[in-house]
Amino acid sequence: MITNKVIDTLRDRGLRLTRPRRIILDVVRATDAHPTAAFVYRRVRRRLPRVSLATVYRNLRMLAAEGFLAERADEAGMRFDGNTGPHDHFTCLACRRIYDMPARVEPGARRRLSARTGFEVLDHRTEYYGRCAACRRSRGRLSLTRQRRSNGKPQGQ
Ligand SMILES: [Zn+2]
Ligand SMILES: [Zn+2]
Repeated sequence: MITNKVIDTLRDRGLRLTRPRRIILDVVRATDAHPTAAFVYRRVRRRLPRVSLATVYRNLRMLAAEGFLAERADEAGMRFDGNTGPHDHFTCLACRRIYDMPARVEPGARRRLSARTGFEVLDHRTEYYGRCAACRRSRGRLSLTRQRRSNGKPQGQ
């Protein structure tokens, strides 16, 4: 659902909530699947048949830059997240789905890291990997060997 706040915020920054932007935001916020631009494009095209992938991609990046979506780089490319609140992610290695996880609160972790490195730590994320409940139920094979092989390429090539 598009709130008036989005419209106001965009207007303040000299941007308009055009129809493609509104639909793109709707599509990303309607799913918790952390879709790729190609997925969003296929969904948006149902409502806006003449839209191009380039337009969808450009607007996704713009909406993310304005803070209405989160983006995350993935080995498969860029993914977009309608959940802009603090949270962690679980990647299922069997089905490749990305799930939202509650952010892990670890009091003192940032302070300890700051003390050790001299860096000012403002934020942190935890990434979980494994097999989701649906895949465990269906006894989906976890192809860890394939995973390891593709990650284990010799360096410097
Ligand atoms: Zn899974
Ligand atoms: Zn997320």
